[in-house]
Amino acid sequence: MTNMMKALVKAKPEPGLWMENRPVPEIGPDDVLIRIKKTGICGTDIHIWNWDAWAERTVPVGLITGHEFAGEIVELGRNVTDLKIGQRCSGEGHLIGKHSRQSRSGKFHLDPETRGVGVNEPGAFAQYLRLPAFNVVPLPDAIDDEIGAILDPLGNAVHTALSFDLIGEDVLITGAGPIGIMAAAVARHVGARHVVITDVNPDRLALAAKVADVVPVNVAQEDLKAVMAKLGMVQGFDVGMEMSGNQAALDQMVEALVMGGRIALLGIPPGKSPVDWSRIVFKAITIKGVYGREIFETWYKMIAMLENGLDIRAVITHRMKVDDFREGFETMRSGKSGKIVLDWT
Ligand code: ZN
Repeated sequence: MTNMMKALVKAKPEPGLWMENRPVPEIGPDDVLIRIKKTGICGTDIHIWNWDAWAERTVPVGLITGHEFAGEIVELGRNVTDLKIGQRCSGEGHLIGKHSRQSRSGKFHLDPETRGVGVNEPGAFAQYLRLPAFNVVPLPDAIDDEIGAILDPLGNAVHTALSFDLIGEDVLITGAGPIGIMAAAVARHVGARHVVITDVNPDRLALAAKVADVVPVNVAQEDLKAVMAKLGMVQGFDVGMEMSGNQAALDQMVEALVMGGRIALLGIPPGKSPVDWSRIVFKAITIKGVYGREIFETWYKMIAMLENGLDIRAVITHRMKVDDFREGFETMRSGKSGKIVLDWT
């Protein structure tokens, strides 16, 4: 192993990412070193590329970006006894503290001291990544590297989808980005009856229909109420998953839900957004904000479902060598792609 590596760095406080040579990270006694094989480009990475207000506030200039990865362990810290050199793995990108009440009660994903790989701490868009052994998720043979590289966003989808019981329920998903599409596939897999997914982007709706057995609805052209009538839905959807951060989508979801319906919110609205709270109160709707993945329950569930036939591979629309990363980011920014996986081997 040489002691330098290629890494995609937020080198300047302006739009873009830059490929640089960086030292291979040194690991501590409780860490492992992972040789990265595949990485996924996330919406978060697009914010960092664009250098929007959030990124400027959050990401230090000079940081190695990226948090969706699969690779292989090549070095073990001296305290690490339960992992092996050569183990294929992905990993949780939230680095948690161990002091908060939430952490000490095992709700690791709710720890307020959490720091993000590729957001606050050196990331996975590199040939090597240092990761606490605690965060490593070994991959079974049934999960190859490109699926391993998108377990982070699949985890968001699974966490959102499993927020409420979906067996026999009618589900509305607003926002057909990769996470919305994967959530639709999960809802189907676990036994929802009708799964309707809405967007205004025809490419994304076409991709949704390709990945999962769902009803895509372009709300710019079709009337959701008419679709519901056609499906024979008497009252409305039982469960909603809001994945778009779009105000009109949330309004439409509240309107289309049954009395006592439940909503899981993963989409992030741009700033404060007006909500018709009285409608939510009078419909007795439960709303849950979803953050990250449950560490490590969501990982366990998604790996088990993948082993049991959950198929989300078609959500990967582009595969490219990491040297073509500019093309990857431009494609992603166009909104005309699903997941894009970069190959570091
Ligand atoms: Zn991500």
